Amino acid sequence: MKIIRDVHEMQRTALALREKAIPVGVAPTMGYFHDGHLSLMRRAKHENDICVVTLFVNPTQFGKNEDLSKYPRNEARDSAMAESVGADILFMPPPEAMYPAGYQTFVDVEEVSLPMCGESRPGHFRGVATVVTKLFMLTQPRRAYFGLKDYQQCQVIRRMTGDLNIPVDLVFCPIVREPDGLAMSSRNVYLTKEERRAATVLSRALENARRFVEQGQRHAEKIRDFVKMQILAEPLAVIDYVEAVDAQSLQPIGQIAHPMLVAVAVRFGKTRLIDNIVIEI
Ligand code: AMP
Repeated sequence: MKIIRDVHEMQRTALALREKAIPVGVAPTMGYFHDGHLSLMRRAKHENDICVVTLFVNPTQFGKNEDLSKYPRNEARDSAMAESVGADILFMPPPEAMYPAGYQTFVDVEEVSLPMCGESRPGHFRGVATVVTKLFMLTQPRRAYFGLKDYQQCQVIRRMTGDLNIPVDLVFCPIVREPDGLAMSSRNVYLTKEERRAATVLSRALENARRFVEQGQRHAEKIRDFVKMQILAEPLAVIDYVEAVDAQSLQPIGQIAHPMLVAVAVRFGKTRLIDNIVIEI
């Protein structure tokens, strides 16, 4: 596995691969790998000749009071893990190379960035859309792999690649969970023992929502309230949002007619976790 830090070297390498029509699959990440990340890398390697993993803790997607400086990092461990699943290139650019002095260009995906995480993290998706565009230009992928754990992010990137005619096939991969249901996240390491136990309420509540629909419930608001009630019953949980919306547009719905997304963002102590489920009917 080759480690590249220089943005120009990355782009030269990617353009040379493109010239030879060698398909590249990219998995963009912020590092501190777990099985969720590895699932994207394995699939990128399986479906392309070359798997490029990008590791960049992107400052423009963090708010002023968020955890940018404390975000967990371990380059040596991450390199070994990426190599173990067959990554060919690990691209780790320094922030000054991605956003040099005078940088002033951003990608803003409008409507789909507004609700849910867009509301609680203003500017977050502008940072995500901008860095993903830059990473696409630098790595020239045929396919790009993203996790459905960040469901709204997938929709923002889908809209962006469509609207800007970016020639990349997007592959959205299922949420990888711990044995007790907690969605894997680099931020799970922040949780105390008690918070870690309490956090299992999220996946339980979402699974119960699926059962509620299976039993015939069709009112989005009732389903949302049902999930909310279960989370409220956990004393360590502080709700940021609980939404039941159209899975495509992320707009509010009354009766479920199409696949519905139930998405939650909840704080346990200082740690904000997200999770979701798509319920087909
Ligand atoms: P991050 O490093 O948290 O920015 O995540 C990098 C990529 O891995 C994103 O596309 C995430 O959606 C994806 N990812 C993170 N956690 C999981 C998970 N538990 N299951 C599947 N994909 C994940």
